[in-house]
Amino acid sequence: MDVAIVGSGYVGLVTAVCLAHIGHSVVCCDNNEDKIKALKSGHVPIYEPGLDDLLAKYLKSGRIAFTTSIGEAAKKATVIFIAVGTPSKKNGDADLTYIENVAREIAKNMDSYKLLVEKSTVPAQTGDRIARTIRLNLPARHKQGKNVTLEFDVASNPEFLREGSAVEDFMHPDRIVIGVESKRAERLLREVYKPLKATVVVTNLATAEMIKHASNSFLATKISFINSVAQICERVGADVEKVAEGMGYDKRIGRAFLNAGIGYGGSCFPKDVDAFVCLAEKSGYDFKILKSVRDVNEHQRESFIRLIEDKLWIIKDKTIAVWGLAFKSNTDDMRSAASLTVIEALQNEGANIQAYDPQAMPNAKKMLKGVKFCHDPYAAAKGADCLLLLTEWDEFKQADMIKTRELMRQAVIFDGRNFFDAKVLGELGFEYYGIGRGGNA
Ligand code: NAD
Repeated sequence: MDVAIVGSGYVGLVTAVCLAHIGHSVVCCDNNEDKIKALKSGHVPIYEPGLDDLLAKYLKSGRIAFTTSIGEAAKKATVIFIAVGTPSKKNGDADLTYIENVAREIAKNMDSYKLLVEKSTVPAQTGDRIARTIRLNLPARHKQGKNVTLEFDVASNPEFLREGSAVEDFMHPDRIVIGVESKRAERLLREVYKPLKATVVVTNLATAEMIKHASNSFLATKISFINSVAQICERVGADVEKVAEGMGYDKRIGRAFLNAGIGYGGSCFPKDVDAFVCLAEKSGYDFKILKSVRDVNEHQRESFIRLIEDKLWIIKDKTIAVWGLAFKSNTDDMRSAASLTVIEALQNEGANIQAYDPQAMPNAKKMLKGVKFCHDPYAAAKGADCLLLLTEWDEFKQADMIKTRELMRQAVIFDGRNFFDAKVLGELGFEYYGIGRGGNA
């Protein structure tokens, strides 16, 4: 099929490349000229394992093309995926400016039936607003009085991929959710995804939008739940890692997303939780659980900072090594990363930060001032009064911890992800502090 994708970021680009991989002819669009220029020459501007090889393959075969013009992207395509950003406004509500802009631009260029698909995460009822925007902005030749003569559909197809394993997630989804208001839209979307042979859940538009809200918010809730448990573990001498293991074997609970640490970050959970709270408020419901999820997440970072202050005693002029900056491993994404809050708080108290991340440093350099960025973990550890583990990159598991200890001024580790084996580090002479590991660290 001829498919267009508007927005070539983490979601749009992965969607485009993977749709090409399963046999479609894809035109991918972005209004960032530098990005499109890079993509046309085969350069992937983000770090996402496996993406560059696939892009090179389908650029060469001509199955994927890039443009800055929505009109050009939409010309041949029947199905147009919208994958632009939906950031938070100051009040936490989703800012849908980019979505509206794209809908307007598509409408102006429409001359045949189109199916517009929301791939971006948007509040429930956004589909109705997109449809209205299309009707209002269609060229006069497609209108008769108040009636629109050109047929179109709007559908919701939320994306559940995770950065760091996005290609794998897209190709092997747990389920594909399709929110449609017509048989034609359902048929087209089923056809797009047919090669994936995945479970397809078909709903109306608003329900599909809600599935995405509810899924992300539930995962965030699991994280805040285990972080609350970790706080109590710390106080009663229990080990949250064992608690999570013991809970996780229960099929009704599951082990995933029960990792205690410095809380969730990234471009999705913080903003999607905020947007769901706002949507609930607008609909007249006070979503108390989710507000607490957010509070617990913030508290988790603060309590990590308090722990460092307590154990390090004086922060001013101390050298603090940071291993990991990205909001999670296997990505270069720094949006709402916990490292930003932790580093800024410690800098405000006069600490000198020496940081290393395998992929996120180019992005981190744009967001963090006064940090010494190092070329490897050992350079970051050199002369440090303590080491903070903030992102769970495999590379740090391979690190030579004896060498690290010898390079540091004081062998103190604050493990914000419960990533290291507390016992092993203790035996190597480190003073180790994890999250919720009372009695074990
Ligand atoms: P992103 O910022 O990486 O990409 C968005 C892209 O849209 C940018 O390249 C931007 O230049 C482009 N854009 C903005 N306005 C445009 C316009 N008018 N015309 C053409 N292009 C335009 O964002 P992302 O991480 O890919 O997220 C996109 C959406 O997908 C968001 O709603 C997000 O919540 C959702 N989502 C993200 C993930 C994830 O892991 N990143 C997962 C699931 C869903």
